[in-house]
Amino acid sequence: MEFELGREIKAIQKMAREFARKEILPRVDEDEKNHTFQQDLVVKMAELDFFGCPIPEKYGGTGVGFLAHAVVTEEISKVSGSLRAAFNMQTMGTAMEICEFGTDAQKEKYIPKLVSAEFLGCIGITEGDAGSDVGNLKTTARKDGDKYILSGSKNWITYAQVADVGIIYAYTDPSAPYKGMSAFIVDMHAKGVSVGQTATKMGWNACPTGEIYFDGVQVPADCLMGGKEGQGFYHVMSGLDNTRLTAAAGAVGVSQGLIDEAVKYAKTRQQFGRPIGQYQMVQEELARMIVETEAARLMTYRCAAQKDNGNKKNTLETIMAKYYACDVASRVADGALRILGAYGYSSEYPVERLFREAKLYQILEGSANIGKMIIATDALGYRKANR
Ligand SMILES: Cc1cc2nc3c(=O)[nH]c(=O)nc-3n(C[C@H](O)[C@H](O)[C@H](O)COP(=O)(O)OP(=O)(O)OC[C@H]3O[C@@H](n4cnc5c(N)ncnc54)[C@H](O)[C@@H]3O)c2cc1C
Repeated sequence: MEFELGREIKAIQKMAREFARKEILPRVDEDEKNHTFQQDLVVKMAELDFFGCPIPEKYGGTGVGFLAHAVVTEEISKVSGSLRAAFNMQTMGTAMEICEFGTDAQKEKYIPKLVSAEFLGCIGITEGDAGSDVGNLKTTARKDGDKYILSGSKNWITYAQVADVGIIYAYTDPSAPYKGMSAFIVDMHAKGVSVGQTATKMGWNACPTGEIYFDGVQVPADCLMGGKEGQGFYHVMSGLDNTRLTAAAGAVGVSQGLIDEAVKYAKTRQQFGRPIGQYQMVQEELARMIVETEAARLMTYRCAAQKDNGNKKNTLETIMAKYYACDVASRVADGALRILGAYGYSSEYPVERLFREAKLYQILEGSANIGKMIIATDALGYRKANR
């Protein structure tokens, strides 16, 4: 077992850290306040090959791997949750999904444009009555000659308003729960596609989230993922094995960002004539935040390393990393707020924004409860996670 990052990944980590410091940090607060989508920064990240780490060179990636992907995601997330989202929109939920399940023609057509950010992507699973209960979605795709007619709506879709292409899940056979679901690669500019704004969010405001409506959209049959009907639910679940890695890495990143701020503050804030960092209770809080974050990081890296070693069906290790890292992020956010006191509650300091960003990780890519359910049902032998 290797506990050190190799030279190549350390170099990529340094590049991502520098990028976050120089390009994102100076404008993150303003862009979040104004709800400005930072497309220019997404494009710059693509130019630095950030989205291509786990994608083969043949399709415009670098093939450096999943661990590199996790490390880069972590660095960006330390500074911005909104830009962290791009790693699922451009890579794990879209390009990687097509890489694993698409036809050769689909891979050639879409993957290079997603990793270069020429196309922005989105993932359309969630609907009004289908959150955790993915099988309950109501969107349908009816076969009509050489095309499908897509009808229904999606909500809470990251990048809905800006995406060029979406991986959209719909029932081709609504009479068959789960088994009748299929995935489509949909042109988001097609006739009949429209989008609306989701309710105001607590955070991640530089990242658009919206609703998508499909009003009899004609989707060419060659946009059916992998050319096979009935694979949609399997694709959602396999896809989550990828997007949950990115979520775990993002959660580790925001935790580290919060720790860095709390440490800085504890060294400078004086109360009762001494820096508050000299008080044992503050040290205890910091120690817990640091150790839990390091444990989450190791679980995340293990999960990524397993994928790099060819074990991509490591659902159990992935959900454990995701569940733990995402729960830790909330605890670390709470600890950082306590250490900064009133200043943690003020938007003058980054902790207030990072706190709001940390909370989302308990919801995204499967809630904390769903994570615990998968882990416990595996242990009880009711349903094995790794199959
Ligand atoms: C900012 C943001 C961006 C998003 N981006 C996307 C996106 O790009 N694409 C997309 O498809 N979706 C997206 N989502 C949706 C997200 O994936 C869902 O919110 C998530 O799956 C949870 O669904 P829900 O919010 O409907 O919660 P629900 O499923 O209604 O759950 C509510 C609560 O009940 C609990 N619960 C539900 N079922 C069970 C059970 N069986 N056992 C125990 N507890 C249970 C949950 O854990 C949770 O605590 C986004 C959400 C947000 C907030």
